[in-house]
Amino acid sequence: MKVPFLDFHSPYLELKADLDAAYLRVMESGHYILGGEVDAFESEFATYCETKYCIGVGNGLEALHLILRAMEIGVGDEVIVPANTYIASWLAISQVGANIVPVEPDEKTYNIDPLFIESAITNRTKAIMAVHLYGQPADMDAINEIAARHNLKVIEDAAQAHGARYKNRRVGSLGDAAGFSFYPTKNLGAIGDAGAVTTNDDELADKIRLLRNYGSRVKYENEIQGYNSRLDELQAAFLRVKLAKLDDWNARRTGVAMHYLQTLSKNPNLTLPFVPEWAEPVWHLFVVRHPNRYNLEQHLQQNDISTLIHYPVPPHLSNAYSKKHGNLRAFPISELLSKEILSLPVGSHISKQQIDVVTKAILEHM
Ligand SMILES: *Cc1c(COP(=O)(O)O)cnc(C)c1O
Repeated sequence: MKVPFLDFHSPYLELKADLDAAYLRVMESGHYILGGEVDAFESEFATYCETKYCIGVGNGLEALHLILRAMEIGVGDEVIVPANTYIASWLAISQVGANIVPVEPDEKTYNIDPLFIESAITNRTKAIMAVHLYGQPADMDAINEIAARHNLKVIEDAAQAHGARYKNRRVGSLGDAAGFSFYPTKNLGAIGDAGAVTTNDDELADKIRLLRNYGSRVKYENEIQGYNSRLDELQAAFLRVKLAKLDDWNARRTGVAMHYLQTLSKNPNLTLPFVPEWAEPVWHLFVVRHPNRYNLEQHLQQNDISTLIHYPVPPHLSNAYSKKHGNLRAFPISELLSKEILSLPVGSHISKQQIDVVTKAILEHM
């Protein structure tokens, strides 16, 4: 039996009637940009995230970029960000001209280590961008406490963590603003590119609404120099259908993850994900560590099981950054993790038989 890493067809089949109806509703309406579907999704997603505002934007990178713009962070400013994240977290900071200050993760949770943050703060630091990596919430109370003492903004990159809870509060509501991606592989995925910002800050919400739409509130009245980064009606209509299923689908992911955690602990070479007692993760990815990752990867491939690596190259070693930041210091924890991690198939639509194929193959490989 084949175990693909991702399955887009089963989720579509489960929601086919509602997704097809959403498509027809938008096509018939003749309204494609900034209409009723976007308004409705924004209000539904804000409620879901327990925030006052949600602003739909073009994608996750744009969500983070517009947050930084709205906070007026730019040239000469520094933003603290995990060394081990998807490169988009870094790109948003570079896009506004600010300097990236990478901070190593905690070796158990893979999220930014609050203990390392304080020593990275300078008099140019303006914000901390926390990433809820792999669907596990970062330690936000510790981060917010440091930020408050140094008068810094806190941005959540929640692109992998729709619905996760930290001490019973939803991610997206835990800092000054959060960026979400609805890229198709995410826990809440559109049928194309889409993203959103959530915030409780009136002024910031208003500014992001302006920025996403040419700096304009009323057509042809341009208050500031903005961008074109809007969530479209069709994606919003699809997202509304899928949002209604998100908790259910996240619970199914959790079921798979719990099964992996129980069974795979029998393999002594494997380091399994660690979940702090205050975290309710949503298992965007199930990432294990193995001292000989390449071997395990090959063994699973021979058993028709697809795996991926998130991420094989930390941003500071990518060509995009290693040239410009040739003198960035080493990040040994991130570099080690990038060599040992492997993402196993986990998802809302993986079958019991497929899970058994994965666990059997991993327990064979000792
Ligand atoms: C996916 C992702 C993004 C970017 O989202 P896009 O919609 O692809 O632009 C940003 N940060 C993290 C951590 C992500 O996983």
